[in-house]
Amino acid sequence: MEEFLPLASEEELKEEICKTMRRLFNRGLISALGGNISARLPGASEFWITPSGVFKGELETEDLIKVDLEGRVIEGYLRPSIETPFHAMIYRRRADVNAVVHSHNPIATGLALAGIEIKPVTVEAAVVLRRVRIVPWAFPGTDALAKLVGEYIEGARALVLMNHGVVGVGSNLLEAETIVETLEEVATAQFVASMFKRDLPLIPEEDMELIKRLYGV
Ligand SMILES: [Zn+2]
Repeated sequence: MEEFLPLASEEELKEEICKTMRRLFNRGLISALGGNISARLPGASEFWITPSGVFKGELETEDLIKVDLEGRVIEGYLRPSIETPFHAMIYRRRADVNAVVHSHNPIATGLALAGIEIKPVTVEAAVVLRRVRIVPWAFPGTDALAKLVGEYIEGARALVLMNHGVVGVGSNLLEAETIVETLEEVATAQFVASMFKRDLPLIPEEDMELIKRLYGV
């Protein structure tokens, strides 16, 4: 994945959150009320998050809420996303993460429901996703879910939340967006292939090693 320059200001960060939300909505990965995004300036101890109960396809920067790493509201008029606890948990646990995208990817979620592990079937999956971990069911918005996400996100970039959706993290918004998009692309390719073939041809071990060396993953 390319390296992107860190965003310069909070205003630009908020703009980027809204744009990312619209793109993912248009791709069908975020629905009218389902899915949320947060981001912080690199290493900041507070972050901006999308609101709860508001149509996700047309968010404006004034709809966003600023919260601290305990999830307490600092700025904004609306209620923060009900998933604020797991976003806060990720920022507390991962100093390298500055953006979190939670979307409701239908195919990635479906594969997890069917007990199928998402595998590195494409080069992009191997480079971008690495290992996709499946978080067991916990009720949305609870501390129990935040605790599980906190455990599973160690060393991971992509999670599937059982019976729910997915989480992608990155050092910036574009990286986190790329994770959830790639997850859906790979899940779709794997789903199509599995209609016709039981044992899918994975990228050979030695080439996986080469990818690891080339991309430092
Ligand atoms: Zn959700």
